[in-house]
Amino acid sequence: MKPTQISAPADERRLNLFEFAQARRELAGSYALREMPRLLQALSGDTAALGDVRWRLRGSLRELPGGGLQPCAELAVRAALPMQCQRCLQTALQDIDEQVVFRLVDAEPEITLEELEADDEALDARAPIDLHELVEDQLILALPLVPMHETCPRPLDAGEPVRIERESPFAVLERLRKPQRTD
Ligand SMILES: [Zn+2]
Repeated sequence: MKPTQISAPADERRLNLFEFAQARRELAGSYALREMPRLLQALSGDTAALGDVRWRLRGSLRELPGGGLQPCAELAVRAALPMQCQRCLQTALQDIDEQVVFRLVDAEPEITLEELEADDEALDARAPIDLHELVEDQLILALPLVPMHETCPRPLDAGEPVRIERESPFAVLERLRKPQRTD
């Protein structure tokens, strides 16, 4: 098994995916989420605290039923994305763990029913591919339509019991003993 090749980011911005698949190359790395402006629009909370997306790209040649080889590229992305919970409106981390197989084609893919129902996705790889953009696209496609906490920390729904933090009786006493401020 060949070790994972890590190339310079400049290469990753202009990948020839046909060559990548022919050579059965593999690349892995991570990109900072805060450098993905299109994705940022869907996120909430403090963007300075954003982490990375870990990705892996694997080239392969798949045997076609009628003979011949189909160049493919498999992309896996993994990230925790802060989004606004649609139940309590606070920030909820959404775990993304997605894989997609691109069938590399040398034409603009047609939107046909067959294409829409295919397990893999046709990708026009005639021009060099910007892997950074491809990873960002994949994350955007993987975003949940209705982001939510599994369990909201403080439910706003009036029907839900609200947990009140119990204050120490000494702290309450201390506050009562302080003179009222008059400013
Ligand atoms: Zn919530």
